[in-house]
Amino acid sequence: MLEFFQSEISFMPFIITPECVGCGACQATCPVDAIVEEGEIFRITGECIECGACLGVCAVGAIIAIEEKVEDASGL
Ligand code: SF4
Ligand code: SF4
Repeated sequence: MLEFFQSEISFMPFIITPECVGCGACQATCPVDAIVEEGEIFRITGECIECGACLGVCAVGAIIAIEEKVEDASGL
């Protein structure tokens, strides 16, 4: 599990958390179509170029930088 998480760190600097309500706003903002619909939520793929454009459009704060996620995990 940890190895999987670490491999995600090296390829996807941003992630969409389960807080996502599936509005699709971020997908419309991404210039390289790196955000895909997956069930009722969305996911950032390896196509992400780290532009950060999607971070500001999520109304529920569901898009976060991996660094924040690592900090959260270290507190567990
Ligand atoms: S950071 Fe930029 S390239 Fe990556 S998913 Fe968000 S909008 Fe797309
Ligand atoms: S903008 Fe936020 S709530 Fe809307 S689809 Fe993207 S991650 Fe989910």
